Parts: sequence; C-alpha cells; structure tokens
Amino acid sequence: MKAMLKLAPWITYPLVVGGSVVGAVALLDSGLGAEVVVPIVSAMALCVIVALERLLPYSAQWGRSHGDFWTDGVHATVSMVLIPEGLRLLLLGALTAASASITAWVGMGLWPTGLPWLAQLALAILITELVQYWTHRWMHTIEPLWRLHAIHHSAPRLYWLNSGRFHPFDAVVTWASSMPALWLLGCPEPVVALYLVFTTSHGPLQHANVDVRLGPLNWLICQGELHRWHHSPDMAEGNHNYGSLLILWDVIFGTRMLPPDRRPPEDLGIGGMPDFPADYLGQLAAPFRWARLPRVQASAPAPDRGQTEG
Ligand SMILES: [Zn+2]
Repeated sequence: MKAMLKLAPWITYPLVVGGSVVGAVALLDSGLGAEVVVPIVSAMALCVIVALERLLPYSAQWGRSHGDFWTDGVHATVSMVLIPEGLRLLLLGALTAASASITAWVGMGLWPTGLPWLAQLALAILITELVQYWTHRWMHTIEPLWRLHAIHHSAPRLYWLNSGRFHPFDAVVTWASSMPALWLLGCPEPVVALYLVFTTSHGPLQHANVDVRLGPLNWLICQGELHRWHHSPDMAEGNHNYGSLLILWDVIFGTRMLPPDRRPPEDLGIGGMPDFPADYLGQLAAPFRWARLPRVQASAPAPDRGQTEG
C-alpha cells in the first residue's frame, strides 16, 4: 500500500493522458466516430482527474472551495465547448476546401498520412505547440492581449476546472492558433480526434490539484510541476513555461523555469490586483475597464527573463 502511494504521482500522467489516448485509439479502431469518441474519453478523463484531486492532492489550500466553481463552470462551458464547437461548424468547411486547393496546387498531400496514428499525433502536437507558444508569450508581453489573458491568471487556486477559465476572446485566439493549422495541412480526422483527447485530458490535469510528477520528462512535457510556476502572481516567475502540452519550445526559446529548491506560491491571482472581479460578467468586462480595476500598485507584465533551470 505504501509503495503504491509512493508510486502514484509517477503513474498518474501515463494513466490519465496515456490511457485516454490508448483508449481513444481502441475506440476509433473499433469503428466509432470521432464525434462519439472525443466526448466519451474526455468525460472519463475528467472524472478520473476529479477523483484524483481527492486521492492524491497537491495542496490542502487549493482543495478548499474559493467560491470560484460556478464562474469557472461558465467559463469552461463557453470557452472550451461552445466557442470551439461554434468555430468548427463555421470554419471547417472553408478550411477543408482551402486544404484541398493547397494540395492540388502543391501536387501532393502536405500531411504524412502514411505514418502510424501516434506519430501523426506527435507531429500535430509539435506544430500546434510552436504556434501556441508564441501566441501565449505575446498574450503575456503585449499589454492589450495581457488584459484578456489575465482572466486565466486571476484564478485564486489551481484545480481541474480552471483549465477552462479563459476570456471568450482569449479562447478564440487559442483555438485559432491550433485547429486551423491542422485542418489546412490535411491532418486526418482520427488524428485530430486523438489531438483533442490529448488536450482535454492533459489540460485539466495540468491545472488540477493533483500531485503529478514527471521527473526527466519535465524537459519535454509541460505538466503541473512547471505550470504552477506559470501561475505565480510574481510575473517575473509567471512569464515562463508558456507551453500547453510541451515544454520543448520553452527550452528552445529560453523561458523554461523549474527551481529545484522551492515550491511555487500557493496564493495565486494577479500580482497587485487582489480584488480582481470574481464573477463571470465582471471578468468579461475586466479587459475593457482595466484602468478602473482596483489595485494596490501599478501592475504590468514584467519583461521575459531567460531560462531558469533546476
Ligand atoms: Zn499564461
């Protein structure tokens, strides 16, 4: 029993994210459509993550309610479900047609459809993460974009549901920096489904109050150990670890941070703005009434600093 408890933080990631992907491959192989597989596997992964917050908590403080559940629930519904689905319905046809035109113009398919699905999934992650790395970094360093993205960083704690706390405009930018590239390049539907399963299991686990450990994989994958630093209210720390799924691009562009000698702060939120609006409508309006928001001192995103390793 003791050995199991010791092992638990190390097997959580392969169990939740690896298990989701393997399960999705099996279901797709059995002939089920992506429109069924993605919601079923994502919902199962979320249930496991919520249970793990009880069984394997990282922080006692974050395990207590902060009055944020309903605000985060509305954010997640709008920004993680309604907006991506609406944009898909609106743009998939046009992007698929554009992809066919590009293929005809080039004279060959751009996507290596002959590779195994998991290799194609790795390629999809590498490409989208590069675009998302820079989008996310600009969200932190360009003031009008930071006002939108600050909603995500206003979370007073980390738990599974605030992986969906995004201003709708931020959600549109995030979606636009991943899905269109895959469709334009002709990424097949089952691989897109695996990518969605990967993101919908990895993202909530990355924010979850679960003690997940990755060891040397912290040089490749961006999970909670790294992402908690990204939520530091001290922006000199928070302006690091921009990766959603991978930390690889942070390593390459010098923004990875994982101090070996201390834990990240547990009092979260936006530095200098302890009374940031906590309700949904207040958060929707916050970027547009930024100068009037209560603060204890001028708060501006600190410039990026170089890589800090541990
Ligand atoms: Zn951020």
